[in-house]
Amino acid sequence: MRKWNFNPGPATLPLSVLEKLKENTVEYNGLGMSILEISHRSKEFEAILQETKKLYHELLGFSDDYETIFLGGGASLQFAMVPMNFLDGGVADYVVTGSWAKKALKEAKLFGSPHVAASTESENFTRLPKEEEIKYSENPKYIHFTSNNTIYGTQWHKFPKTPEGVPVFCDMSSDILSRRFDASKFSLIYAGAQKNLGPAGVTVITIKKDLISKMKDGLPTMLSYKTHIENNSLYNTPPVYAIYVVKLVLEWAKEIGGLSKIEEVNNKKAEVLYGTMDKYPDYYRGTVKDKGSRSFMNVTFRMPSEELEAKFIKEASAKGFHGLKGHRSVGGIRVSMYNAMPLEGIEKLCEFMEDFKKNN
Ligand code: PMP
Repeated sequence: MRKWNFNPGPATLPLSVLEKLKENTVEYNGLGMSILEISHRSKEFEAILQETKKLYHELLGFSDDYETIFLGGGASLQFAMVPMNFLDGGVADYVVTGSWAKKALKEAKLFGSPHVAASTESENFTRLPKEEEIKYSENPKYIHFTSNNTIYGTQWHKFPKTPEGVPVFCDMSSDILSRRFDASKFSLIYAGAQKNLGPAGVTVITIKKDLISKMKDGLPTMLSYKTHIENNSLYNTPPVYAIYVVKLVLEWAKEIGGLSKIEEVNNKKAEVLYGTMDKYPDYYRGTVKDKGSRSFMNVTFRMPSEELEAKFIKEASAKGFHGLKGHRSVGGIRVSMYNAMPLEGIEKLCEFMEDFKKNN
């Protein structure tokens, strides 16, 4: 039986995508070879790459002013590549809203003098900063956000205002493709694929072309965005299979109705789950202080005791709900409900939560 998979990433994928992989992995399109066996420079793979990029731009609303590349190394490599390519000893502003943002900041310190425009670390990242708390520096090279804080369960539902003319960069690893947003407000967006886009192994980076002239020269070839833009992600062998899976996931996303439909379902899932938690706020204790900061992707809560939490996870697991243990820095429960988790999974989980509360 297929479990309800609430893993934070790698995470659940649409079943139809997994089934297509089963069909296409041994033999691709009558080629007499697997997709895993063909050259990354073959016309078949070139077509996959082009189509993936096209669908990504179409679904997310990127205009022709943007270029997308597919790299290995995880979103974590982007923490370094971003400042390496753009900071050059200067200042950039970081809005620090969780562990991943902190890691991005740490890398930036290697290449310049990042300024912490706001941080909620002293409150253990249980909320996002208010707009008036964010203090941008005079003339930063860019401003860096994390759109969804996978570990702490917070998400920007409306991005704060930023100074005119300063490029805005964002780590959207854990909520890319989950909702509509104004892509034109961002100059660089990166996302590890293993939550909403596909499997681990590929990171998708979209860069506004007007930034190309600002990229630092003289970097190691593989760490320069220019290399990958100029070579259409084919300077070296890209993660071909992971890119292929991303293509299938994007096709699925388009088929089910694109971002507006996906957003509608995600909103509903959040309403149902937070609704259940809010009925019993002393029992399912949301860790996010400010309801407006609650993530629609990763929902975090504690329970009255660690024993109850352990019992909850154990009984949930026996009923087929997998991956609910919170990150060690928050503890408790984390329900990761990316796009491929249907509303039904959340409804079933909420029924379990009701029963568990009654019996315990
Ligand atoms: N940013 C965010 C928001 C994440 O959730 C994660 C991983 N969970 C990362 C960055 C790091 O991604 P990776 O493991 O692909 O380096």
